[in-house]
Amino acid sequence: MAFGEFDLIARWFTRPGRESERIALGVGDDCALVRPTPGMQLAVSTDMLVEGRHFLSSVPPQRLGHKALAVNLSDLAACGAAPLAFTLALSLPRVDPAFLDGFAHGLLALADAHGIELIGGDTTAGPLNICITVFGEVPPDQALLRSGARAGDDLWVSHPDGGGLGDARLALEAFRGHVSLDADAFEAVRARMELPTPRNALGLALRGVATSAIDLSDGLLGDLQHVLARSSVGATLDADALPLSAVLAAQAVTLRRECTLAGGDDYELLFSAAPARVAAVQAAAAQAGCAIARIGRVDAAPGLRVVDARGRHVATPWAAFDHFKI
Ligand code: ADP
Ligand code: MG
Repeated sequence: MAFGEFDLIARWFTRPGRESERIALGVGDDCALVRPTPGMQLAVSTDMLVEGRHFLSSVPPQRLGHKALAVNLSDLAACGAAPLAFTLALSLPRVDPAFLDGFAHGLLALADAHGIELIGGDTTAGPLNICITVFGEVPPDQALLRSGARAGDDLWVSHPDGGGLGDARLALEAFRGHVSLDADAFEAVRARMELPTPRNALGLALRGVATSAIDLSDGLLGDLQHVLARSSVGATLDADALPLSAVLAAQAVTLRRECTLAGGDDYELLFSAAPARVAAVQAAAAQAGCAIARIGRVDAAPGLRVVDARGRHVATPWAAFDHFKI
């Protein structure tokens, strides 16, 4: 069967009968209708994924569907907003049923895991390009912002149990042929690149506890610089306190540092909190079932200093990630 645009939307992206208290109207009309909880602020974020830029053509479609939504959910997590719904703008070179089966499955399974609905979008022929907009809600004045870090705060990062930062970057280096990993190690870091876990439960639990938060998408150093700039503070980071997977821990120190400090695609939360709130921070992590590590502190003096466990300066020769400068 040859699928047209509307057959495609109906077959892969329409789930009838999924209207709810929150979603008055989903896919099929000119607009979707959403009922946010009265008095809440709407949190809105968009992320676009372009083939060759944000994902390799080797990614299995199911993982691509997962990742496209995961990176958007991660932005809501970073703001402490509860997810409500999302839209999907999709540009596809052709209607490939096997691709769409996998993509829709990965996308909608993650949506179901977070209790949110696909409520609309746009579909066109063109180069493979996926753009999702997520909608969430947060009580007034409780959103976690980049601008709230204060001198003296601790810096924390979330991480997988037994894992760490930098695995996605290590996978990319392996795909590029710059490092060779055995099959198990490669599969482990590849899964971290292709199946990120957005930290939404942690983001919610950190409301009223964290002073600032950001999700790690472009690499720890660059993302931390955004927080420092918006908060008008500096920081000292302990490179040896960064959580590491066993696979990355087995690599040479320079590669390890590059992957953890300048990697990207981690989708962990980096947040600050007053030292007096350490018990509340740990309780929030426990409540969210998410591991966290204390990796540094916020300073009044501007600039970012990276040191090792003995306090020695660590060189950071990598430029922050910028899509127009690669
Ligand atoms: P319009 O002509 O108003 O732009 P479309 O014909 O593009 O509407 O889309 C028809 C319906 O299908 C709309 O409700 C739209 O939100 C929805 N839709 C289009 N593409 C997608 C998609 N990829 N995923 C989910 N819903 C979609
Ligand atoms: Mg349209």
